[in-house]
Amino acid sequence: MDDRKKADRLSHRLWYWITELVDLIYPDKCGLCGRLLAEEEIGICQSCYEGGTLILSDYCRKCGQSIEENQRYCYDCHHFSHEFEQGYSLFDYAEIKEVIWAIKYRHARWRVVALAELMSWLYAEVIKEWKIEAITFVPQSRLDIGEKGYNPPARIAEILANNWQLPLLKNQLRARHKKKMQKTLNLEERRKNLKNIYYSRGKIPFQRILLVDDVYTTGATIDACSLILKENGAEHVYFLTIASGGFKK
Ligand SMILES: [Zn+2]
Ligand SMILES: [Zn+2]
Repeated sequence: MDDRKKADRLSHRLWYWITELVDLIYPDKCGLCGRLLAEEEIGICQSCYEGGTLILSDYCRKCGQSIEENQRYCYDCHHFSHEFEQGYSLFDYAEIKEVIWAIKYRHARWRVVALAELMSWLYAEVIKEWKIEAITFVPQSRLDIGEKGYNPPARIAEILANNWQLPLLKNQLRARHKKKMQKTLNLEERRKNLKNIYYSRGKIPFQRILLVDDVYTTGATIDACSLILKENGAEHVYFLTIASGGFKK
């Protein structure tokens, strides 16, 4: 490894520990607007809660994306089948684009923690209904993690598992480095590209799994991971994400 790479890695580590420390020192902030939270507020502040960005009604009964009133399924779920059973997302992607960007690329770890707490409170009953036995997350390749320092879905899954007292399957799913960026591909190309990216480390000793990711766009990633979980012993896969939507056909 050359010196520049070493220095890069060192500054990554340093940045990681600084943000960890900042998370510890600072009181809880709203995961969306950053305002300090009152004691009774969980994850987001009252005004963000009332702002209507949370998907609480008019969502697809399969994938959880927000849809037109009086519909049962989104276009995709109406026309195509999925590998997963059901899933929910906290927000419509279009409403919180900047927040997602900050989470994915700007090390906004406190936002991840806040939104995971919101998830844990909002979906506590859903998890019981789904009879979830263990939690896992959409993995990233070491190379992808290296670029940004950590994998947000892993952190969310860790918080959910801890709050709900469920086993966390930490290294169950693995990912090879994505050679082509998913963003630039169409639906068919995405599915093909994903086929070879994910794999499982051994059999899964649970049947009902919750899969966590940051964004649900076409469902191709959740489907690919669900299929691998099912090929390795899981019978039913459910998912939760921070946001859904945002894929332009
Ligand atoms: Zn707020
Ligand atoms: Zn749907």
